[in-house]
Order: sequence, then structure tokens, then C-alpha cells
Amino acid sequence: MTTAAHPYDALMDITARPPAVFVRGEGSWLWDDAGKRYLDFVQGWAVNCLGHSPAIVAEALAAQSKRLLTPSPAFYNAPSLKLAKALVDRSCFDQVFFANSGAEANEGAIKLARKYGALHKNGAHEIITFAGGFHGRTLATMSASGKKAFEPLFEPKVPGFRKARLNDLTSVEGLITCKTVAVMLEPIQGEAGVWPATDRFLQALRALTRQHGLLLIVDEIQTGIGRTGKLFHYEHAGIEPDIMTLGKGIGGGVPLAALLASEPASCFEHGDQGGTFNGNPLMCAAGLAVLERVGSAEFLQSITEVGRYLESELQRLSTRHGLGEVRGRGLLLALDLKLPIGASIVAQAFEEGLLLNSPQPDALRFMPALNVTRDEIGAMVDGLDRVLKRSGTARLVA
Ligand SMILES: *Cc1c(COP(=O)(O)O)cnc(C)c1O
Repeated sequence: MTTAAHPYDALMDITARPPAVFVRGEGSWLWDDAGKRYLDFVQGWAVNCLGHSPAIVAEALAAQSKRLLTPSPAFYNAPSLKLAKALVDRSCFDQVFFANSGAEANEGAIKLARKYGALHKNGAHEIITFAGGFHGRTLATMSASGKKAFEPLFEPKVPGFRKARLNDLTSVEGLITCKTVAVMLEPIQGEAGVWPATDRFLQALRALTRQHGLLLIVDEIQTGIGRTGKLFHYEHAGIEPDIMTLGKGIGGGVPLAALLASEPASCFEHGDQGGTFNGNPLMCAAGLAVLERVGSAEFLQSITEVGRYLESELQRLSTRHGLGEVRGRGLLLALDLKLPIGASIVAQAFEEGLLLNSPQPDALRFMPALNVTRDEIGAMVDGLDRVLKRSGTARLVA
């Protein structure tokens, strides 16, 4: 064992992190160990749907932790049964498998589709996914992703993923063969910079997949659990997919994810799927608390209203600073910067005590807590306005 030269050195250096160490969070606010306060519009990448350390999640975790942590995934436990039932009651799906991360849920969706192909489609196993799509960081989910930066990594990739273009039905049709079993997409491509599939495209995709007997898989890890103003994004398009994955917001800050399937698509047999911590009562208790709060009609309505307010405020900033479009839905929005200055804006905002995210060099993405207030939006917009004003010359140089 070697002694790390600096406490930071003991962690694998997998991404560029600012040197602050965060010690506390409450709602839309975070504090570092020097006592500096930050207004957080990243929220753990759209994870903390009720903000940092919401009381209802903390209480659910505390109560469940005293009662039962992990009986074994081979036994039933009450919170996972309750949460599965609640998700089935609130969606078009019939069965749920719980996972610990979004990538693991998507890995399960890919396995489920391949199983369906083996059982019902003569071994068809190819899944059509989309350029720009992001489905996670396991080998199969990186292979399913259409992220350019992933292309040279960890070869050879898992075979069986063919990439179509978002909102281009012809590009999907052109990839369908007798080996195809499913089409998989994010209703809004989040990591790619918040690029929505149109409702019409989702409807056309549903019709096309039905016509060819293919499964339609929606990756709602970022868009699900109220993020876009409906509990699940697919509801906007009025379609019923065969398979859906959830992650991020479903745990309100703790690691929980889910794979949901309609009865015909839910075809795992004993031995096909499992996992030590899957469906553990502690995380499912948190999920239940989140779903109870976020799933209410009033709360979902408030997301739509606050989302419109954020959108109009961003639009105002864009006009003032000569920036591009505001896109997205609900509280998953992006501001087009027109220039590759995203990283610089994020770094300057950090100094101001404002946490922003730039998923692509020319875009900022906003994914605040779903209960963010108008005052907090106002404070964020003021901070970003100051940063944009200051970087006026930087923009010309960039
Ligand atoms: C974040 C994300 C994932 C991966 O989830 P992890 O919990 O990081 O494994 C997959 N798909 C989408 C759309 C995501 O936003």
C-alpha cells in the first residue's frame, strides 16, 4: 500500500473536478468545506428531484434502516413490492425489475430484448439506437450509445447496435432487418445537449415498431419521474412503449433504478437476471417517498409552470446576450450558446457560487430540483447574466 500524497490522489482521476469538497446540501443549495454556498442547477445530474437531502427521503431511509436493510434478492420485501405496484399502477407497464444504476437498468433492457428475440423472433437480437444517444457506461450500454467520444474506447464493442438519426423515421426503417428485435431511445437526448424527439416522431416510431413486431424501449432515466412535467415523458406523445428504464430521479438522491416491461415483453426466466442489491428495501423505501410526492397531480402541474418560467427567463437572457435557442421540456432545458464557451461559463459560474452543466461545448443544460422556486431561478439567471456580461470579450476571443 502506498500513501497518497494528497487526499484527492486516493480516488481514481476519472474526470476533471473543481477542488472544493462538498459537505452539506439542502434543497437547491450546497456548501463546501470552506463554508461557501452554491446554488445548484445540476443536482447530481438530474438526480435530486426534490433537492438536496429532502426530509421525506431522509425520514424514509432512517425508518427503513432500523427495520430491514437487505433480506436477499431471493426473498420478497415489502418496500420493493409496494414500489413495483405503484410504478405499474402509474404507467402502461405490468412488471418491474429494480436495479442500482441507470446503466444496469439499460443493460437489463438490452438483455430482455435479446431474450424476447430468442423466444419469439427466431433469435433476432439487433437493437436500433440513435446517434447522439447516451445509455450508460457498461460495455453494452456504451455500445448502445451514439456518443462520438465513446467510439474509439474499449474495443471491441458489444455487437448488435445500429445507429439511426433522431427524428428521422426513414433512417430507422433503413436499418430494420430480420435480425432486428427492438428500437431504443431517450425521448430527450440529455447528454447530447437536450435534443428532444418530437411527439410525432415517437408516435411514428411506435407505429413502425408495431408494424414490424419490434419492441420499443424508452430510456427515461433522465426524462422520467416528473422531469418534463408528466410522470413519464412518453405520456406527452400518448404512446405505450414495451419497455422503459428509470434511474436518476427515482431515488431522490440514492442509487435506485428500474426496468419496466409490458406483460408480453416481460419474458425473463429464472436464472436470466438478478443482482445482490437489486430491489433492496432501503432504496425502495426512498423511491416510494419520492413517487408519492412527485407523482401528485399538483406537483406535476407545478413542474410545468416553473419550467415555463425558467424557459422564459433563459429566453430573455438569450435575447440580451445574442445567444441561441432554448430547448427541452419541463425542467430539462438547454440554452444554445452558439460558441464553444460552455466549459468556461461553467468554471466562471462556479466561482460565483453557481453550479451549471455544459453537456456539449456550445450548450448549457439546466436540471434543477423539481421543487426549485421562482426566487432561486431568478438568482441563477442573475448570476449567469453577470458571467455572460463578463465573458462578453471572452466570447469574441473564443
Ligand atoms: C444518466 C443516464 C444513464 C446512465 O445512468 P447511470 O445511473 O449513470 O448508470 C443512462 N441513460 C440516460 C438517458 C441517462 O441520462
